[in-house]
Amino acid sequence: MKLSGKSAIVTGGASGIGQATSRLFAEEGASVVIADFSEAGEEHAKRLRDDGHQAIFFKVDVTKEDQIQELIEHTVHAFGKLDIMFANAGVANDDPADRLSLEKWQKTIDVNLTGVFLSDKYALIQMLKQGTGGAIVNTASIHGHAAKAGVTAYGSSKGGVVMLTQTLGIQYASRGIRVNAVCPGYIETPLLKVLPPEEKQKLVDLHPIGRLGTPEEVAKAVLFLASDDASFVTGASLLVDGGYTAQ
Ligand code: NAD
Repeated sequence: MKLSGKSAIVTGGASGIGQATSRLFAEEGASVVIADFSEAGEEHAKRLRDDGHQAIFFKVDVTKEDQIQELIEHTVHAFGKLDIMFANAGVANDDPADRLSLEKWQKTIDVNLTGVFLSDKYALIQMLKQGTGGAIVNTASIHGHAAKAGVTAYGSSKGGVVMLTQTLGIQYASRGIRVNAVCPGYIETPLLKVLPPEEKQKLVDLHPIGRLGTPEEVAKAVLFLASDDASFVTGASLLVDGGYTAQ
């Protein structure tokens, strides 16, 4: 029970990596807020409660500052405090720059970078007020480290998350708040499951381990960063990518 007595928010908690991580957090003893704009978060929270865990759903759009503030208030009202923020909600819809609309660029930056900034900012304000430290984990990507043709707005947003993480990591280290990022390779989430087999194989071939990752494998890395096991880790980006970036 690595998170016994802790209160955690997981944005994008209704699906994929966020769903697996919120389940693992709950199984490790945390009270968890599933924060997502998809109503599927309600069913997920109910399943966790049915399994004997503490979990609630809060509908939020991470790009809206007032909604993030409400999310923090709601969490503190429900569980008394906030110890862990997993800022994970993200979207991927991209094009080569000469064909990338400003609308698509803006949406990607809004959710993947501004959404993480807002989640971190208001988590920090609450954690500083509590004065007992905390842990923030942001979801970046291999494409925050390694470029891929056509991955224009997404790569830019995730590169931004890596640098935001470093900046906050050093800024708040002396106050006992650690800020780290997890950088997954291609993971078998609902998004990738719909790919035709030949497209999926092309992605598999990019990972020396010879397969895609699972949401549960990313969740274990996030648990490490969020728990006291990572007590000397801050400002770091942890690659969970089957060797993609090393190759
Ligand atoms: P997913 O689509 O399964 O889950 C993303 C969740 O975020 C969804 O539940 C969605 O409703 C929610 N969301 C999207 N926009 C939102 C908003 N504005 N406000 C609130 N919630 C919002 O995707 P996933 O694969 O689990 O991705 C999770 C994170 O992991 C993302 O940041 C993604 O960029 C990153 N990532 C994924 C992969 C991969 O291969 N799946 C690889 C590297 C990084």
